[in-house]
Amino acid sequence: MAPTPPSRRRRSWWGWGWEDQALTEDEIAELAAFLNRRFGVEPDLRPKPALRNSMLPVPRIAPPDPLRPIADVSVHERARHTYGRAFRDVARALAGDLGGAPDAVVYPASIADVARVLEWCDRARVAVVAYGGGSSVVGGVEYRGEGGFDAWVSLDLTRLDRVVEIDTTSRAALVEGGIMGPTLEGRLRPSGLTFRHFPQSFEFSTLGGWIATRSGGHYATALTHVDDLVEGVTVVTPAGELRTLRVPGSGAGPSPDRLFLGSEGALGIITEAWIRLQARPVFKTAAGVHFARWEDGVAACRALAQSGLQPANCRLIDAVEAVTFAGVRDGASLLVLGFESADQPVDAAMERALELCRDHGGVVPQAPSTGGERDDAVGRWRSSFFRAPYLRDALIRLGVIVETFETACTWQAFDELHAQVTDAAARALQEVCGIGWVTCRFTHLYPDGPASYFSVFGMGRRGSEVAMWDEIKAAVSEAVLSAGGTITHHHAVGRDHRPWYDRQVPELVRSGIAAAKAVLDPGGILNPGVLVDPR
Ligand SMILES: Cc1cc2nc3c(=O)[nH]c(=O)nc-3n(C[C@H](O)[C@H](O)[C@H](O)COP(=O)(O)OP(=O)(O)OC[C@H]3O[C@@H](n4cnc5c(N)ncnc54)[C@H](O)[C@@H]3O)c2cc1C
Repeated sequence: MAPTPPSRRRRSWWGWGWEDQALTEDEIAELAAFLNRRFGVEPDLRPKPALRNSMLPVPRIAPPDPLRPIADVSVHERARHTYGRAFRDVARALAGDLGGAPDAVVYPASIADVARVLEWCDRARVAVVAYGGGSSVVGGVEYRGEGGFDAWVSLDLTRLDRVVEIDTTSRAALVEGGIMGPTLEGRLRPSGLTFRHFPQSFEFSTLGGWIATRSGGHYATALTHVDDLVEGVTVVTPAGELRTLRVPGSGAGPSPDRLFLGSEGALGIITEAWIRLQARPVFKTAAGVHFARWEDGVAACRALAQSGLQPANCRLIDAVEAVTFAGVRDGASLLVLGFESADQPVDAAMERALELCRDHGGVVPQAPSTGGERDDAVGRWRSSFFRAPYLRDALIRLGVIVETFETACTWQAFDELHAQVTDAAARALQEVCGIGWVTCRFTHLYPDGPASYFSVFGMGRRGSEVAMWDEIKAAVSEAVLSAGGTITHHHAVGRDHRPWYDRQVPELVRSGIAAAKAVLDPGGILNPGVLVDPR
């Protein structure tokens, strides 16, 4: 029996989010006209493929009787769980390329169910890929045959969605790993507390997925990485279950939690976590600052990051992105700046931050606003930000190669990294697509350096889009590493970043991770090929 769907609305099997939220055909026609005006191209719209049984391989295994009630082998669910949601995933799904679909999707409803699934898979030599929201953009939730398993299951954890306990004294909660962002915040709301972790993928990603990928929320500074918000974890592995001690801090050797932060489903299944909560902010203010020169905006961001002011939002968006998504028409880069607090007014902090910006040539066209709907560059950028994944899917249907990549480096290295990466992307776009552009913004700021996020747009050739993107991605990844950046700041490693990750992480550390995997997952069934090679 198939599990009851969480709601009547259906998730798209090939693209982002809800099927009913995709751009309408009229909106897509407008987008095509825009591409034509801007680039002189005549985009040809790829139809949404109709899902048919024959597009998927016949399942090679059947879950044993006790697991059948929690297994689903329907075409829609197997197709939906075939890939994550990167450009190359959506492009492959749209092309009807579902040959690598999981043999079954299994939905455990308890920690005991997870242990039973792992026990069966270990015995039957079936690979297991943990699946939270499936929003991976690095090939983290598919299986490409590593380790030679004949069959694989996608272990969908979204039925593990309870808030088990809230400790209001310590401001922490015990929460199951498959809970999605909105459900988590909804269940915390009566306590007046919040997890305050909002990746752009918040609506369709899970606590376990965030921990397994070390995700970054949309706050620019301070507590924004999920790493800092985890107090302890419960993990089920083929070798048994473990629970780390729940404490605010500990100097007892290497941190057990840290072993599982960023473990990407390769070391165990995160079934529960104690997470740190915060009071809901009530004081909020936001402003947009224009910088005629990108370099001045960068210098202002460094001053802000090193000032101790800790803005909640501090996103420097370059001029191309600012005109396209925020309607900034004066050719300036836009800094979206925001402060919030649950405890005290934030106007003084904003005032000081704007002073720092002006010292670096920033212009503030409009007084800071204290929240609500905004009809200015900040408001326009914010609404396009949340609609962006649906827009991206429409662009892919129109044949556009549209993807992002991100990194972090020191302030000392940044100018050179920005120049090298932008240049590598522009050259690759020219060679591969003939036409295209690259933009950059800051997503997170640290006193010692920024996390920069690049978006790439180019016209693809039907049928070659994935190979074309892979060529561009290889070029920019080489540039990132050679300029001293990390191959990922918050998107994780998955399968797509492995070659560069292997060069970035000391070999002895990778051998240590492989040794830990051999203990926790002796059969090597967990997400084979991710982080380390199968034995
Ligand atoms: C439109 C879009 C916007 C995004 N924005 C952001 C952003 O702002 N910040 C950010 O950090 N990332 C972002 N991402 C990337 C992605 O959302 C994150 O990596 C997210 O943390 C993945 O969570 P998930 O629940 O969807 O995990 P999945 O995609 O399902 O899985 C990711 C990895 O974790 C493993 N995994 C999942 N659940 C568990 C578990 N319970 N136990 C063990 N392993 C598990 C999987 O096997 C896989 O390797 C974005 C992606 C998209 C498509």
